[in-house]
Amino acid sequence: MPSNPRNGRPYRRLVAAQKARGLPCARCGGYINPALDPRSPWSFTLDHIVPLSRGGSLLDPVNARSMHRRCNSARGNRTGATAPLRSSRRW
Ligand SMILES: [Zn+2]
Repeated sequence: MPSNPRNGRPYRRLVAAQKARGLPCARCGGYINPALDPRSPWSFTLDHIVPLSRGGSLLDPVNARSMHRRCNSARGNRTGATAPLRSSRRW
């Protein structure tokens, strides 16, 4: 068993399959260019609808959706698919 399941072959296969579907970003709805460098903020990332930290399945395609890298990191681990980009701070 690999210590990090994200390095495993089933996970990479899921990522490739999701990427091949060519779906727009689940957060902003924008086109995701599959040819972009993975380090690009607009590159494809696989997002888990139910975060793994909340018991979501890593390998279930139903729990996977496409997202820009920058949109994915902006969302973080917050719950709710439509969390606002800007965090509202009340001081
Ligand atoms: Zn996006």
